[in-house]
Amino acid sequence: MPSKAKPSKKRRASRATAVKSSRAKARGKPAHKKKAASSRRRTGKPARKTSKAKAKSGPKGAKAVRISRAKPGFKLIRRVADMKKYIAELRRHRRSVALVPTMGSLHDGHLALIHEANRLAKVVVVSVFVNPTQFGPHEDLDRYPRDPAGDRRKIRAAGGDVMFFPDTAEMYPDGFQTVVDVTEVTRDYCGASRPGHFRGVATVVAKLLRIVEPDVAVFGEKDYQQLISIRRMARDLNFDVNVVGIPTVREEDGLAMSSRNSYLSPAQRQQATAMFRGLRKAKRLCESGERDAAELGAVVLDLLREERDLEIDYVAVCDPETLERIPEVDREAVLLAAVSVGDTRLIDNIRLGGSTRRRRR
Ligand code: AMP
Repeated sequence: MPSKAKPSKKRRASRATAVKSSRAKARGKPAHKKKAASSRRRTGKPARKTSKAKAKSGPKGAKAVRISRAKPGFKLIRRVADMKKYIAELRRHRRSVALVPTMGSLHDGHLALIHEANRLAKVVVVSVFVNPTQFGPHEDLDRYPRDPAGDRRKIRAAGGDVMFFPDTAEMYPDGFQTVVDVTEVTRDYCGASRPGHFRGVATVVAKLLRIVEPDVAVFGEKDYQQLISIRRMARDLNFDVNVVGIPTVREEDGLAMSSRNSYLSPAQRQQATAMFRGLRKAKRLCESGERDAAELGAVVLDLLREERDLEIDYVAVCDPETLERIPEVDREAVLLAAVSVGDTRLIDNIRLGGSTRRRRR
């Protein structure tokens, strides 16, 4: 398998700076604006509002209108060969590339990944592909929400440069028979409830990494087991990519944003919030000194059991890297949960532990 040589940190930084300054020049930005923009990119601070932007966001307290970050030259690419050709061209110009893999029907959680990708690399490729191999035979592949026109608009407005939107035959041509199986970290939790799911995820992400060869790939912590398994795969298979995880973006009531939330009736939607309420309660309890994993899990289970339509799949306190269950939160840990609300499967997690003191028993 061909691999690309990894430039040193310093070379990467200077490469990125060189690319940025040449683009700024091309756009004819004045020098002080170039400097401010590059410092913002480093620190992650938002731009100070101009009077024009202030006028757009309206009076204090009013709902802010999202300001478009659209870049010129946005591309929609449907063929693997075209994607590879475009990436080769970017590489010739020493552009850094970030990949954001998605299944589309984009919401603000996905957009947060695109924003982060924009901070980390010059060119952002967002793949939109409802990957059939990660759905079980009785899962929601056919009814999974699809909105390519809306996705294209959102990717562009969020500052993505390319929407890679292949069809199934393009990703899995006739005769396709190779899989990537990350074994241990996918064994339990969603891996146990959805046999073959993570094999489908790892296989498609491996393909996307080969096609786009990004410097950075950005994933959400919401799908925690997925993030860990992709990190494992990238290390194990020597993908020269930095796998970055982004905190979960939530609705106002705490429910983790998900394309599948659109399946929920208003009553189910209300019940679904119990998962995050439970996780948050367990976190608070942990912060106040409770270290016993079973006690912390029980707090979540109690809240979930109060909801009539929720079926609990798992609640587990585990090591954040190996995902092995731990009996006690005596270091950093992650509390994972999955439920079904009617036919809709929802997952969430919260980080626990760190430096809080041990409770006396
Ligand atoms: P999906 O389209 O559901 O396959 O998700 C694509 C990427 O977006 C994955 O890396 C997810 O973890 C991430 N993602 C989905 N929902 C959220 C969210 N609420 N907050 C942050 N990232 C998310």
